[in-house]
Amino acid sequence: MEKIKSKGYAMFSKEGPFKPYEFERHAVGDNDILIKIMYAGICHSDIHQARSEWNEKEHYPMVPGHEIVGQVTQIGRNVTKFKVGDYAGVGCMVNACKDPNCDTCHGNREQECPDAVFTYASHDKFHGGEITQGGYSNNIVISEDFAIQVPKTADMEKVAPLLCAGITTYSPIQFSRIREGDKVAVAGFGGLGHMAVQYLVKLGADVSVFDVSEEKREAAMKMGAREFVDVSKDTEFFKKHLNKFHFILSTIPAKYDMSAYLRMLEFGGEFAIVGLPATQNLPSISLHSFVFTPNRKIYGSMIGGIKETQEMLDYSVKNKIYPQVKIIKGAPDEVAKQITEAYNTIVDGKVQFRFVIDMRDL
Ligand code: NDP
Ligand code: ZN
Ligand code: ZN
Repeated sequence: MEKIKSKGYAMFSKEGPFKPYEFERHAVGDNDILIKIMYAGICHSDIHQARSEWNEKEHYPMVPGHEIVGQVTQIGRNVTKFKVGDYAGVGCMVNACKDPNCDTCHGNREQECPDAVFTYASHDKFHGGEITQGGYSNNIVISEDFAIQVPKTADMEKVAPLLCAGITTYSPIQFSRIREGDKVAVAGFGGLGHMAVQYLVKLGADVSVFDVSEEKREAAMKMGAREFVDVSKDTEFFKKHLNKFHFILSTIPAKYDMSAYLRMLEFGGEFAIVGLPATQNLPSISLHSFVFTPNRKIYGSMIGGIKETQEMLDYSVKNKIYPQVKIIKGAPDEVAKQITEAYNTIVDGKVQFRFVIDMRDL
């Protein structure tokens, strides 16, 4: 079977910059589809990973990107979920064991499968251990079970970030069973945070936003938040909100005071963590503050399974819940430069709210 030729944008070391890069993907197998990528979002996880902030032993050249939407151009002979011409989305995973005896795959939590293959920088044990390459590219091959059906009515320019920022915030909101009237907070109002606020407002929750960029206040209020708290100005910000929230979702990608958030939870309240800072910059919580703020619950959450991702996508498109995007496009050298710059802009908190790369002309 013939390998697939691909063009994309890669970092060749953790220092960057991005440069155009040509490579090959494995052939389209019987259960696979080939997608011509239209748009790819830039997630803060791409930055952590491309800069080796989570793991010193990353693989380069690295083509990041796990917020992908495009059109199906080829299908394997066993494929039933897609036909050529359909729109398809790809998130953080491209495969897993799918064994009926695997509790996590069977339980629709493929992200926890020991054999899960992530979209880039991941060993693909189902293809001879090749290292996967992501969505900052013109095409991708994926097992049909891991591709998400995207209705043609979707706003294609904005749909890609739903595949990570959307599902990563939708999933804990479902897990914690948030309902109308619940007092909730979102900490970190960036790519993930602004999706969380939209889902929570849609449910009728009473939403507070905690962030460090005063410039984002207006957008938060426009999205329907009840208040915006700039925590950079006041380290005692939590004192005005003690025991107030039923649920707090942290998307913060940097070091922060976890105990402050714990103290803002009501009795029995839940603190869901999705933000994953660099390993040298991890926040922690002392056992003392954990025990002396008793009966509050903390849990982590990682993207969501494929079934829930499809549910989130259908819900978002139906309710027109989309990210606010800033499009990167142009000639390949220019796009490579813009991606390199976008990484700094994101870390500086200067984008409202998600960069999306237009891949259609690559
Ligand atoms: P963004 O950079 O778009 O957003 C992060 C936001 O948090 C920014 O608005 C930032 O402000 C704000 N922030 C930074 N420090 C603080 C602080 N101390 N208190 C409050 N707000 C703060 O990142 P993303 O939304 O793309 O990603 C967020 C995190 O989630 C990343 O660590 C990412 O790796 C992780 N992630 C985890 C996933 C999972 O499955 N668990 C999936 C996807 C992402 P400013 O920029 O002004 O500093
Ligand atoms: Zn992501
Ligand atoms: Zn499995």
